[in-house]
Amino acid sequence: MGGLLIKMYSFGFKFNKQVLSISVKALSKNYGSQKAVDEISFEAKPGKILGFLGPNGAGKSTTMKMLTSFIPKTAGSAQVCGFDITEESLEVRRNIGYLPENNPLYTDMYVKEFLYFIGDVYHLRNLKSRVEEVIKLTGLEKEQHKKIGALSKGYKQRVGLAQAIIHDPKVLILDEPTSGLDPNQLIEIRALIKELGKTKTVVLSTHIMQEVEAICDEIVIINKGKIVASDTLSGLLEKHQESTLEPIFVKLTKEPN
Ligand code: ADP
Repeated sequence: MGGLLIKMYSFGFKFNKQVLSISVKALSKNYGSQKAVDEISFEAKPGKILGFLGPNGAGKSTTMKMLTSFIPKTAGSAQVCGFDITEESLEVRRNIGYLPENNPLYTDMYVKEFLYFIGDVYHLRNLKSRVEEVIKLTGLEKEQHKKIGALSKGYKQRVGLAQAIIHDPKVLILDEPTSGLDPNQLIEIRALIKELGKTKTVVLSTHIMQEVEAICDEIVIINKGKIVASDTLSGLLEKHQESTLEPIFVKLTKEPN
């Protein structure tokens, strides 16, 4: 009976670990004496797109880098798909796809060659078919034989997304994926993110409020390293008696005069 209870408990525990894709608790990062991220807590659920908003310098990129085990935390904890960002960083990286701010890419490599290279880093067994699959998924068929440096910004973002999803991660962390795109590119990349968000948990940082209104299920607003709002769009609009997100964002993050 005891054994059965332990099995039931551990099954329940594992199941719970799967329920939240991201769980952040009192996570902090100091740069010297500056608290860039100051005891933030939030959660993200599977199959949802979470908009991570805040003014420049609020701590968005720092948070995303900690979640992807790119930089160490100062204090607090975070789990990705049940794995601890400090203790289990390899599993975290296996479960996460990351498009960093400014999308650094090897501009001298050809699109397909670059995706083979990234897939190889993940030791993908079905490398050839997976590269072909992501090229198709991200609409890179016509550009696959070009040098990355020769692509337009919209296509470079597609390559950034392709490398982020090549190992089929459950969680995608996208740091300003639509910044600097023209309106047509913006619509295309947004549609792609929305499609990916159907099966993955997406954390997306952006300064475009309409984008958040169009594709995000949940919204977290961070200001000066602290979370100032965490809700659904409709919850935020109702709470602040507004019809759009912009005045709420301004109210919660503007500097006092
Ligand atoms: P956001 O992504 O919201 O624009 P960041 O996370 O990039 O904000 O930065 C948060 C704060 O931390 C800013 O004040 C920034 O100058 C500082 N910061 C970020 N990275 C470093 C670093 N490597 N060294 C020192 N300070 C940093």
